[in-house]
Amino acid sequence: MTDVLKHENCDVAIIGAGPAGLSAATTLKRAGIESVLVLEREAEAGGIPRHCAHPPYGLREYKRVLTGPSYAKKLVATALNAGVQIVLKQTITKLEAKGVLTIASPEGLKKLTAKRVLLATGIRETPRSARLVSGDRALGICNTGTLQSMYYLKKMVPFRRPVVVGTEIVSFSALSTCKKAGIQPVAMIEENQRPTVRWPIHHATRVFAVPLFLNTRIIKILGKDRVHAVQVVDLNGDRREIGCDGVLFTGQFTPESALARMSHLELDYETGSPAVDQFNRCSDPAYYAAGNVLQPSPDSDNAISIPIYYTADNLPQPVEVAGQCWHQGRITAEWIADDLNGKL
Ligand SMILES: Cc1cc2nc3c(=O)[nH]c(=O)nc-3n(C[C@H](O)[C@H](O)[C@H](O)COP(=O)(O)OP(=O)(O)OC[C@H]3O[C@@H](n4cnc5c(N)ncnc54)[C@H](O)[C@@H]3O)c2cc1C
Repeated sequence: MTDVLKHENCDVAIIGAGPAGLSAATTLKRAGIESVLVLEREAEAGGIPRHCAHPPYGLREYKRVLTGPSYAKKLVATALNAGVQIVLKQTITKLEAKGVLTIASPEGLKKLTAKRVLLATGIRETPRSARLVSGDRALGICNTGTLQSMYYLKKMVPFRRPVVVGTEIVSFSALSTCKKAGIQPVAMIEENQRPTVRWPIHHATRVFAVPLFLNTRIIKILGKDRVHAVQVVDLNGDRREIGCDGVLFTGQFTPESALARMSHLELDYETGSPAVDQFNRCSDPAYYAAGNVLQPSPDSDNAISIPIYYTADNLPQPVEVAGQCWHQGRITAEWIADDLNGKL
């Protein structure tokens, strides 16, 4: 593993060192592909599991229940043992035709040309700005991913008494992180009439001693320097304030497809993912996609995807478990290897 990109060309460049990217890289090396580079913008490889310090990860891949960080370490070790090269602190900023990538790193801007490129950039939660929540720009507002990386990777705590917005599975992962970090949320709010997670998981709010308010929407954040309250509204239009020192926005996942959006690749406007064919190949055949960045349309018959996260309207959410992304990375890599060998 290195922080310095020495290559100008390679057989396959993989953008993102999460479960999908690492399993694809390992499979490509095992299929005999000579130079396989994984490019990761963070200083550490492993993707989201690095900062999800809870189980269950790894059942499908390693037949064991692991926490996120031990799972991430195992994925990285497996890839390195297979001969994959992982280059850290490399942010891909532009995709061009014929596999030409622009990369920003501490060394400056570089270009890399790959015969094939795999987009494995994952997903992200919707932040406050995109949720159009008005009010003050105070300290103490973040998403689950930020909370978990702050606490598990840097031992920092952004608040002590936040309001948690959302009731998806990830919202309960957030509650578990809060408990570990000594944070006691004052409320969990959900704008729909029932929690997004399926029964009986939402009862976990009782275990965490967090009051759950349904039919309640956050409309304003108040606080000069740090958050001191949020204004919420219920179904009848009644407004009230909840005192708190932070706001934790959870879920509402969206594919991390900003790169594809700014490029020549076609997008699937229903899901926000790059548009792909049955081999997960994008509109430019030098590019493929796998993992959470790639979500099937709700009515798609894509056989390799079995979503387990649902929205309140019962639609599949653009987030899957790590094992599923790992599997998608693996089979997409087999298609890429076939393609390079003229067999696809
Ligand atoms: C809070 C939370 C809890 C979860 N808990 C579980 C669980 O208990 N069990 C389970 O199985 N699954 C769980 N999941 C889901 C699981 O973590 C994901 O499904 C899995 O990590 C997705 O893998 P991926 O490779 O598609 O993407 P990611 O893991 O998101 O990896 C994508 C990588 O791409 C990198 N990247 C993005 N853009 C660029 C760019 N432009 N240049 C360079 N690098 C880039 C990112 O830095 C990241 O490292 C959880 C998810 C969340 C958010």
